[in-house]
Amino acid sequence: MTKPALLGIPYDRKSSYMRGPSMAPPAIRKCLNSYSTNLFAENGISIENNYTDLGDLKTKDYIDIGTLIGNTLSDHERLVILGGDHSISYPVLKAYSEKYENIEILHIDAHADLYDELEGDKYSHACPFARIMEENLATRLVQVGIRTLNTHQREQSVKFGTEILEMKDYSLKKVPTFKNPLYISIDLDGIDPAFAPGVSHHEPGGLSSRDVIDIIHSIKVPIIGADIVELNPIMDSQGITAALAAKLTKEILGKMLEK
Ligand code: MN
Ligand code: MN
Repeated sequence: MTKPALLGIPYDRKSSYMRGPSMAPPAIRKCLNSYSTNLFAENGISIENNYTDLGDLKTKDYIDIGTLIGNTLSDHERLVILGGDHSISYPVLKAYSEKYENIEILHIDAHADLYDELEGDKYSHACPFARIMEENLATRLVQVGIRTLNTHQREQSVKFGTEILEMKDYSLKKVPTFKNPLYISIDLDGIDPAFAPGVSHHEPGGLSSRDVIDIIHSIKVPIIGADIVELNPIMDSQGITAALAAKLTKEILGKMLEK
């Protein structure tokens, strides 16, 4: 198996409220490679020289993302993707579904992102998991940290059979166990804005940084890919959220490198 690869997708044109996540990948890389920390994940594995940094995807068109990810996956089996807004997860999963079978998804977010459409756009960052489930790109969708469900999204969840662990009910023990290769999608607004202020949509009452790290450490199936999305550097005073995104990147890569 090839080394896991890191890839930025600096795309934020499907954001409904505020632009900014297109500036996230360099901000996260800067923290990841900063002398303020080291490259050891908490499981004792160093990611230094153990992943390939592919730089950023060179596209401004949403339609190209899936094709480019498909090409990338032919040389690199496992990607850790730095968004970008959350709309990128749909074309990424479309490409993954052509390479892997029975993909399960762990989705961490304040929002279920299951809208049929938002403001007339079916590919808005509020919709990716509706498209993913409609097209059967994954066999299972587990959504954790959700705290903004409205009637439409509850209905969508029932329609698609997604498993939602709402934030009000959260504990690590309640996170379902996975059985098949796993893709992790982390929207940083799933984490409380006290820990992750650098996002476009502040939704208090969320997961702690530690909660998310513990969830990653608890996974026992192979992680085939991940995305960390919605960092908005414009909102990120002191770079706190970029540092958190870098930490999560390191923990996911460390987990992928476990034997
Ligand atoms: Mn969100
Ligand atoms: Mn999201």
